[in-house]
Amino acid sequence: MLKFAIRTTTRSEMLDITSQVRATLRTAGVQDGVCHLYVPHTTAGITINEGADPDVRRDVLTDLDRLIPWLGKYYHIEGNSAAHIKSILVGSSVQVFVENGQLQLGTWQAIFFCEFDGPREREVWVRVR
Ligand code: ZN
Repeated sequence: MLKFAIRTTTRSEMLDITSQVRATLRTAGVQDGVCHLYVPHTTAGITINEGADPDVRRDVLTDLDRLIPWLGKYYHIEGNSAAHIKSILVGSSVQVFVENGQLQLGTWQAIFFCEFDGPREREVWVRVR
């Protein structure tokens, strides 16, 4: 398994990690297969969506906050239930095909690490099969 680290800088953010995924695959000499990306955290997630217009990220984060406010009627004593719920909605893994060493993403797609309880040191786990 391959891994790379991420340092998030705010409570809630979507970091474009596409270039880090490409670099990880290049270093490992991966040519073809299915790239599995997994986030081993309970208050973060990973997704694929539009990478061209940063306002899309802003809208997603704004509406997630509207749907799941940080201050709500939660039982979890740690005080970060909103982050756990967002993590469940976004999910902890994505898959992308790799052909001839290239990630097969759509024209406007990018891979995003979704932080919901930052800033923190995070990891993405990678395996190609
Ligand atoms: Zn918690």
